[in-house]
Amino acid sequence: MKKISILGSTGSIGTQTLDVVRLNGDIQVTAMAAGSNSKLLEQQIREFSPALACVWDDKKARELKENVKDLPVKVVSGMDGLLEVATEEKAELVVAAIVGMIGIRPAIAAMEAGKDIALANKETLVTAGHIIMPLAREKKVSILPVDSEHSAIFQCLNGEDKRQVEKILLTASGGPFRGRTREQMRDIQVEDALKHPNWAMGRKITIDSSTMVNKGLEVMEARWLFDVAMDQIQVVIQPKSVIHSMVEFKDGAVMAQFGTPDMRLPIQYALYYPQRRYLPGERLDFWTMNQIAFEKPDFENFPALSLAYEAGKTGGSLPTVFNAANEYAVGEFLNRRISYLAIADMIGRAMENHKVIENPTVEQILETERETYEMLKDGRH
Ligand code: NDP
Repeated sequence: MKKISILGSTGSIGTQTLDVVRLNGDIQVTAMAAGSNSKLLEQQIREFSPALACVWDDKKARELKENVKDLPVKVVSGMDGLLEVATEEKAELVVAAIVGMIGIRPAIAAMEAGKDIALANKETLVTAGHIIMPLAREKKVSILPVDSEHSAIFQCLNGEDKRQVEKILLTASGGPFRGRTREQMRDIQVEDALKHPNWAMGRKITIDSSTMVNKGLEVMEARWLFDVAMDQIQVVIQPKSVIHSMVEFKDGAVMAQFGTPDMRLPIQYALYYPQRRYLPGERLDFWTMNQIAFEKPDFENFPALSLAYEAGKTGGSLPTVFNAANEYAVGEFLNRRISYLAIADMIGRAMENHKVIENPTVEQILETERETYEMLKDGRH
């Protein structure tokens, strides 16, 4: 039986990972971690019987400990607890599905302990790709992408010679505001931005999809995962999310992965790679799908995508600033303290104000995150 640990088990990716585990019945979850949703975590503990569970919030962890005292599960909390879950002895693979840069240290700890990583937390590669990829090679662990686009690219590259890759064609739905000008986006409210046309996801990533920040993060993630230059990654708008991404080879052949928008597919592929398994669900019907349209992204009205290319090309600590400024701004927007358009403006200003550190250490990355938050909080921009 394969044994896994899940960081972020109560989130959108975490719960879908547990769906896949439930459907297959031959994976054992040995450890799980959540931020504060101890109620759902308790249900998950009762269903999946992990040996170890972590709640970030100390008070919630104490409550949980009391509530599950009839079970043989150890309850831990905080960063030490997260690291314990990431390195749980029996787990062979760790599903990294926490949202945010808090996921970096657990991912590194898991790799150092020799565990394969099913990676959903894109912040890890965006900000620390220069540390993660060499570490994976050194520890001989696999990083299996969970993001649907990266899984698609991974599937297209299966059995291929990576040196023959000409370009990666990263598809994007364009989000709910595709086709609008900035003027037409001025009054967008939280509820409007939380409606994604095709995918059901966590709140932060849904906002990021609408601003194209998510696509920008994915470009930076792809650059590390597939060892290509930023200029070899081309974003292509494909509004219906039927093609999850494509790879163009040097001979001109283009390979694509098609499918319905169901995150369980890339999750299952990562959990069982290189095997494929049956997955119940809707299938594409090519007789009724009468067209697949493509468009160039609108860099002018969605400036976050250009900023992401700039951050990725410059490298060093700038992708961390891009990511941290966005995290801060999205939090402010969700709390209705700033306007929708201010999200990209804040990212731009934070990047302008930053002095880039080349090859930052994990400490410098986390320090840059803190500084970016502080700067934006103080209005020093
Ligand atoms: P959600 O917000 O739905 O879930 C986040 C998870 O992380 C929750 O389980 C949450 O716990 C947990 N968490 C947050 N902070 C902490 C902490 N300090 N310690 C422990 N656990 C914590 O996010 P998603 O599932 O949507 O996204 C997770 C990651 O996957 C993100 O990086 C996202 O970009 C990426 N991703 C998501 C996709 C999707 O379809 N959702 C697609 C591709 C990538 P709690 O519930 O208690 O708050």
